[in-house]
Amino acid sequence: MRRYFVTTFGCQMNAHDSERIKGLLEDLGLGEATTQDEADVVVFNTCTIREKPDQRLAAHLGNAAALKRRKPGMVVAVGGCYAEAQRERIFERYPFVDVAFGPGTIRHLGDWLGAGGVGVARHSFGTAGERRFSAELPTQRERPVQAWVQVSMGCNSVCAYCIVPQVRGREVSRRPGEILAEVTALARQGVREVTLLGQNVNSYGRDLAPDATTGFAELLRAVDSVDGIERIRFTSPHPKDFRPDVIEAMAGCDAVCEHAHLPLQSGSTRILKSMRRTYSRERYLRLVADLRGAIPDLALTTDVIVGFPGETEADFLETLEVTEEVGFDGAFTFVYSPRTGTEAAAMPDQVPEELKRERIERLIDLVQRIAGDCNRQRVGRTEQVLVEGPSRTDP
Ligand code: SAM
Ligand code: SF4
Repeated sequence: MRRYFVTTFGCQMNAHDSERIKGLLEDLGLGEATTQDEADVVVFNTCTIREKPDQRLAAHLGNAAALKRRKPGMVVAVGGCYAEAQRERIFERYPFVDVAFGPGTIRHLGDWLGAGGVGVARHSFGTAGERRFSAELPTQRERPVQAWVQVSMGCNSVCAYCIVPQVRGREVSRRPGEILAEVTALARQGVREVTLLGQNVNSYGRDLAPDATTGFAELLRAVDSVDGIERIRFTSPHPKDFRPDVIEAMAGCDAVCEHAHLPLQSGSTRILKSMRRTYSRERYLRLVADLRGAIPDLALTTDVIVGFPGETEADFLETLEVTEEVGFDGAFTFVYSPRTGTEAAAMPDQVPEELKRERIERLIDLVQRIAGDCNRQRVGRTEQVLVEGPSRTDP
């Protein structure tokens, strides 16, 4: 049997897409290899949100090239956001790559492999014109009781730092009936927790018929009513789309977890404006108060970027203040990374690397202290938990 090995970079959407890539390869009769060295088909599902994943991919591709010199029949495939950003250039840069595809064109990998390289040219790129939901593909789930469920693809926001809209395109929502059919099937298979996925998950449905039955609040209610689903999570919502009906639905649905991932990005209204986030520090804090007012014991997590162009010490101190004031249970912290083609990459006043490093260390210290405090407050309480499996860092 021919074997495959998939390496995944980046966000939850990529983790979900990788399960679909594996499902597609299994459907073609391939089995999963335990290491890359044993594989006949090596797939990289890439991320390009910051420069770091680009650099990590380059190192991984170096290893794949060496492997392919020893095993010339091996197929090297590159998918995901970096592939979409590079398109045909990927073959110029890495001539040993056989096939490449974007997040919306995973099927292209199956077409190429299925044809054994015949009919679909080597070095052809899956075109964006035929973008489809990866949720339409078979899947090979990592965990028996948890599942990702894609509800939309793409993003209509114009955050000045972000490459996502360029590589994942305009927002397209999946039909509610398809989502519910998938959730119902998952529940029958024993899944207890679903995480609804979208780049901007709570603007779900705006592109569908503009009636009140297709919004994110209605979707939460519909998923909540599926027998067997005990926990519902969703990521990533945008603060601007956290409307009162969504908060009400969260509060009213038994299965929706008391958790919101609410990307702050910056605590300075001036920087938020320059980022084109469309909310101010005050509006964000009001939203936090509304959420906490409606959902007792709500856990809050966030994303923060430090060193956005023009960020002064005073702006950064505002980010620390908001972080302290909200008291996040956890935060993903990022050093701003200029991405070619985004508005912010061309802005003046780029912050020097050492200053960005110094600021992120101060932010991480604060985030860890606060998260530790949040955890300590739960000691001695009785909580419902979902056992996911042994820890990755300590079995
Ligand atoms: N759509 C989601 C949102 O708006 O929160 C997720 C977008 S992205 C996959 C995840 C996070 O990466 C963002 O929330 C942001 O904090 C960070 N990010 C995006 N572009 C970045 C950049 N150029 N440099 C540093 N961090 C970035
Ligand atoms: Fe990027 Fe902003 Fe869209 Fe999130 S909402 S994917 S940060 S453009």
